Amino acid sequence: MPDQLSADLFDVKASAERFIEEVIRPLEASGGDPATVRRTVQQASQEAGFFYKTQPEEFGGRPASILELTMLREIWAAANSALTSHIFGPGPGILHTAEGELRKHYLEPVMRGEKRGAFGFTESDQAPRPTWGRVEGENIIINGQKSYVTGGDTADFVSALVNIEAADGAKLGTAMVVIDRTAPGVVIDRQFASMEGGGHVAMAFNDVCVPAWHVIGKIGEGMPRALGNIGNVRLMVSAQATGMCLWALDFVENHLQAPHRSGTPLGAREGVRLRYADMRIETYVARSALYRTARLADTGENVVNETIAAKVFCTETAGRVIDGAVQLVGGQALVKGHPLESLYRQVRSLRLVEGASDLLRINLVKGRLELGKGRL
Ligand SMILES: Cc1cc2nc3c(=O)[nH]c(=O)nc-3n(C[C@H](O)[C@H](O)[C@H](O)COP(=O)(O)OP(=O)(O)OC[C@H]3O[C@@H](n4cnc5c(N)ncnc54)[C@H](O)[C@@H]3O)c2cc1C
Repeated sequence: MPDQLSADLFDVKASAERFIEEVIRPLEASGGDPATVRRTVQQASQEAGFFYKTQPEEFGGRPASILELTMLREIWAAANSALTSHIFGPGPGILHTAEGELRKHYLEPVMRGEKRGAFGFTESDQAPRPTWGRVEGENIIINGQKSYVTGGDTADFVSALVNIEAADGAKLGTAMVVIDRTAPGVVIDRQFASMEGGGHVAMAFNDVCVPAWHVIGKIGEGMPRALGNIGNVRLMVSAQATGMCLWALDFVENHLQAPHRSGTPLGAREGVRLRYADMRIETYVARSALYRTARLADTGENVVNETIAAKVFCTETAGRVIDGAVQLVGGQALVKGHPLESLYRQVRSLRLVEGASDLLRINLVKGRLELGKGRL
């Protein structure tokens, strides 16, 4: 089987590729109202079964293995269409272990598509100290600033990393705390957009009072929970990166074989061939790392270091491959509206989201030298 996929996964792959051709491409061409198009994608995805693959069984989902999700995410990215973001249904994310009131008021509405959360991790350089919360009876009083919360202007709540202390100031550890966006004391300081098209806010918490049951898990578990969630997202970003490479390589291949004004297709020139070879070699290695890491993750073993390695390599490869594609296609690739122009903007953010490449390198070596983790 290609890429050593099982027969079952190979069938899923074929049906995902059909879904792109039969559902996504015609909808893209229709240029219809965005809300209607989104609903149509979701409905078609429910019928095809893709919608449920990111959802736990207890919520009516049919969860896929990490390898299957990775393969599908790569296929969606390789389609280079914004509409693929509507294919998977909402997942539980960091709330996956929520119980009791937290489950009833946040996790369940998220899974029904009635509420949406954002993730507040990155601190502000201007704040006097990282976001902190003081326990007062049954409540926690939160202060601080988060500088880069994607979708924070429309989210119903933010799951934020907070340093918790007791009423006497004793440090109790970190916690992931659910904070309603409209709670008194939550202030959106700044709204901004990044070059790939994402919308974000900088957010301040001024004596925001939340009940203690808003803590996801226990106090002291905040950082591991945040990083556990980030691990899954890092693999997702890696799959997006290699999917982008696949789309770009295909595009460049057609370009190299098309007529060129010089009278000779560019693909006939040795220097061009060498550049294109490097793009393919790097993508091959990145995909090998991606699929190996997904398979390892499915065994349930600790793959923090392997996921870091895959994320750094896949996203840096994608940066070089998309840059190379722009170079080989030439000036037309930078014309606004050209698919490579938008891909070039999108790929840049991947080396920063879910951990900047250099910080991940440092974490990887820490994992090796101090904890003895990480395969080669
Ligand atoms: C599109 C996008 C969406 C995002 N969405 C979210 C979100 O939803 N929630 C959220 O919490 N955050 C979000 N972020 C923020 C993102 O997580 C951070 O940008 C990223 O972690 C880097 O942190 P920073 O920007 O503060 O840069 P810094 O931490 O200041 O780092 C800048 C650079 O300095 C160098 N550097 C920093 N520290 C070290 C070190 N110790 N050793 C060596 N080099 C170092 C690295 O080269 C690094 O790239 C988003 C970012 C982007 C681009």
